[in-house]
Amino acid sequence: MPLLPMGDVDEARSRGFDRTTARRAWSLTRPWRGRLTAFVALIVLAAVVSAVPPLLIAWIIDEAIPAADRGLLVTLFAGMLLVGVIVAAVSMIERWLASSIGEELILDLRTRLYRHVHTLPIAFFTRTQTGSLITRLNNDVIGAQRALTGTLGGVVDNLISVTVTLAVMFALEWRVTLVAVALLPLFVVPARIVGRRLQALAREGMGLNAEMNSVMTERFHVAGALLVKLFGNVDREVAGFHDRAERVAAIGVRQALTGRALFAALGFVGTLATGLVYLVGGLIVIDSPEIEVGTVVALGLYVTQLYGPLAQLSNARVDLMTALVSFERVFEVLDLPRAIEDRDGARELVEPRGHVRFEDVWFRYPAGSGLASLEGPRAEHGDDASAWILSGIDLDVPAGSMVALVGRSGAGKSTLSSLVPRLYDVTSGAVRIDGHDVRDLTLTSVAEAVGIVSQDAHLFHDTIRANLRYARPSATDEELVAAARAARIHDVVAALPDGYDTVVGERGYRLSGGEKQRVSIARVLLKDPAIVILDEATAHLDTESERLVQAALAETLRGRTSLVIAHRLSTVVDADVIVVLDAGRIVEQGTHTELLRAGGVYAELARTQFGGGEATAADRR
Ligand code: ADP
Repeated sequence: MPLLPMGDVDEARSRGFDRTTARRAWSLTRPWRGRLTAFVALIVLAAVVSAVPPLLIAWIIDEAIPAADRGLLVTLFAGMLLVGVIVAAVSMIERWLASSIGEELILDLRTRLYRHVHTLPIAFFTRTQTGSLITRLNNDVIGAQRALTGTLGGVVDNLISVTVTLAVMFALEWRVTLVAVALLPLFVVPARIVGRRLQALAREGMGLNAEMNSVMTERFHVAGALLVKLFGNVDREVAGFHDRAERVAAIGVRQALTGRALFAALGFVGTLATGLVYLVGGLIVIDSPEIEVGTVVALGLYVTQLYGPLAQLSNARVDLMTALVSFERVFEVLDLPRAIEDRDGARELVEPRGHVRFEDVWFRYPAGSGLASLEGPRAEHGDDASAWILSGIDLDVPAGSMVALVGRSGAGKSTLSSLVPRLYDVTSGAVRIDGHDVRDLTLTSVAEAVGIVSQDAHLFHDTIRANLRYARPSATDEELVAAARAARIHDVVAALPDGYDTVVGERGYRLSGGEKQRVSIARVLLKDPAIVILDEATAHLDTESERLVQAALAETLRGRTSLVIAHRLSTVVDADVIVVLDAGRIVEQGTHTELLRAGGVYAELARTQFGGGEATAADRR
């Protein structure tokens, strides 16, 4: 019984056979058609060869023994041996073919999925529950693989064995075979009923196991373990756990018994069928000697060869549907549109100078960029495009200049800056780098030209060296150190026991917020982009850290075009132009002094957000 996720089985039952998915899944096998043909040919060969031994036995009984022909006896024995060897060899090759086709196909599918997910818009990731996505990428791909190598192979194999066996039986003696065929439903019906029962039990068991797992995951997490300790509830915890584990155990017993009941029932039906074959066959032999004893024995043997495959085929329909569900879910992800792609004939941005220009940019967040089944319950309303987030933005940022974006939270500062590296495309208007519409440039070359330093710097679970090299795999160790020095992080790294080989990230060495940010700044420095986007929230840093981060940032901005979402007055004062955004519009634009003098929104912001006293002090510089 294939162990597929139980939800899939239900889903498979509830819907009809989906031809489109089946056809598409089949089309995936194109590169392996040669091997598939060989696979089916081998199955036929194995089935035919397996049908030979009962005939040899009949021969022994009817010819060799009555004639006392010792030579023939030995020859027939050798024949049986040969059959055994052929069947073993064929089954090995068959297995190799099935697993290599299955694994290679899944490798291909998995890689395609991974690549595809990376090309999805960032909106997909903001909406998707990571857990469900990873489950989809793992379980459904594995489900699809099982479907191919296990289910499909098994169904084909069993169908062919049953057909060949029945054909040989009919050729031998049709009356006895008819009796056997009349008994077929007796194999199929109990297997189906008990099969369902077993699936229900397995589903219940898996649900309980999942519950147990999530309890453990939660309790064994540092915070959970701490809570249990602090409230001293170990006994109650254990009691609850024991309760669940006990139910799992009870289900295990019921599963074992039900499985055995099926086995016993099928065994009984098998015995009944064999007995009937001998009974009817015996009667025929007594009445009309045209059928020989050996033939009856051979038929009895064939019946036993029939019932294994028949029992397995009883669930074939559900198995196949379940397999298709896995494929369908994989296809669902593969079919998600890539919102942002290289246009045909997109050009490389070569040696960017970093002149950025927003031309009458209007923007709203696009609707439904995800899969409902991968999103949390909150996402239901997310199918309409948002209201206008940016309205008619015109802004010129000359190469090498620094523009500070200020405004209330939600004014659209992050959104505006995310249009430059094409995390999103404008709804109308254009964003240009060095005069080229970013949509006419290749995504890779735009990504190379733009560096982003954000508030929550993310580092992969890997060494510091690897994290830095992520920006430029070809960087030499000297370049790494130079970047780290410039980012004011080298001394910290060098003092670590493993230096640049220290593993950081979620479960690695805990760098402080400021240190992490400096590593991410070093990463941007290595990348050496012409344009830097900076979300310079330093609020959560202590003074010492903030001083270092600021020094590192100053280094980063030097000689580059920068778009800074400004949270500190010093940045604003140093900016060539300050742009004040409000509800997606530019409401003011100018230098610090100009804007203060104007006494508008900026002057108000400077007083409340940056602190009035500091503003005057900085103003006097
Ligand atoms: P700021 O950076 O000025 O705080 P943002 O650019 O982050 O402002 O947000 C501007 C507006 O866009 C806000 O109203 C916010 O709710 C909305 N917004 C931000 N991100 C998304 C998103 N992924 N989907 C829909 N709306 C968004």
